Amino acid sequence: MDTYNRLPVSFKKGRGVWLIDYHGNKYLDATSGYGVCSLGHCNKLISKAIRKQSKRLIHTSNLFHVPEQEKLAAVLSKKSGMEKVYFCNSGSEANEAAIKLSRLYGVKKGYKTPLIITLKSGFHGRTMGSLSATDQVKIKKDFEPNLPGFEHAPINDFAYLRSLVEKNKEIVAIMLEPIQGVGGVKVANQDYLKSLRKFCTENDLLLIFDEVQTGIARTGEFFAYQNFGVFPDVVTSAKALANGIPIGACLSRGSASALFNPGDHGTTFGGNPFVATVGLAVLDYIERFNLVETVKSTSKYLFNALNKKLAGNKNIIDIRGMGLMVGIEMSLSAQEIVKACLHENLLITAVAGNTVRLLPPLIILKREIDLLVNTLSNAILKIGGAS
Ligand code: PLP
Repeated sequence: MDTYNRLPVSFKKGRGVWLIDYHGNKYLDATSGYGVCSLGHCNKLISKAIRKQSKRLIHTSNLFHVPEQEKLAAVLSKKSGMEKVYFCNSGSEANEAAIKLSRLYGVKKGYKTPLIITLKSGFHGRTMGSLSATDQVKIKKDFEPNLPGFEHAPINDFAYLRSLVEKNKEIVAIMLEPIQGVGGVKVANQDYLKSLRKFCTENDLLLIFDEVQTGIARTGEFFAYQNFGVFPDVVTSAKALANGIPIGACLSRGSASALFNPGDHGTTFGGNPFVATVGLAVLDYIERFNLVETVKSTSKYLFNALNKKLAGNKNIIDIRGMGLMVGIEMSLSAQEIVKACLHENLLITAVAGNTVRLLPPLIILKREIDLLVNTLSNAILKIGGAS
């Protein structure tokens, strides 16, 4: 079905930060396959784990204990400070689980119409629940009726959010991306997140962070909330968790961990021995090669290079982000810049508000960053004229 406007290229092979098309041309992938292949394409150690587990056992079903899934849950819990994990197959599904958890939280309090607050220009997925949580008119308008039970508040406006809660007695949760990805790489303020944490605790609301894009070391901590020192009750993950093998996870702690009982939610594929083993290999790689620290220093290098090359350019409005999640807002068409970069064998994405987003693999080298920044800067000069 025609669900994507595809760019005119397809790839035959990948290795590290590079993709090779069917004519043998080499592209620098600063999208990581949309935030997924954070350890690079066809990472040798991950491919080895895939090969090994595919010969041992791929799928049983959640009718049985799955030791690999339990192990992955234990490692994720240790890294996140969460207590329980539900595994599924995508970011949208992870958010569906968080939405169902929140509704159950309300129903157990006797609420008839539990309400979840999410943020304006937030993105949580394309399934009906996650789409209803999303605030992007363009992708929602033809799919009415959306699910009821969602209100949207502007990012970094605590007073507005508090007034919403005061007006609605059946609010159960606040759900947000600590850094909005699709919404334009907008970073939540630390003070705002701290106020939300305090407010949720005082009012018995669940604080849910959608870390589908920001998680798994992308921002220089394992989860972005660790940069802010603000711990959610529920966190969702997906994308980079198995470096390209479909996976999603909804993690919880405290009272949120006691909500689901057998029969309340489920999935056929989620957390099978194969994907769980690949997830474990990803987490092991991050630990073994100290990627969290690597991202911190690579990030500094990338931001310095971008600021040096672009900050004075008249078409640049803002360069922002965290770790290796970067947004460059411009007065130019972001789509035009994406096309100009593609022409020069660099892959980047356009997000809301004429912002181009960089999500390079976490293993990117400094010389590859130099190439990325030079190519992007040339594309901006070509489309926007000299600064
Ligand atoms: N949440 C966030 C923050 C995302 O960026 C995305 C996808 O881009 C999703 C949820 C949806 O994930 P998926 O496409 O795996 O369903």
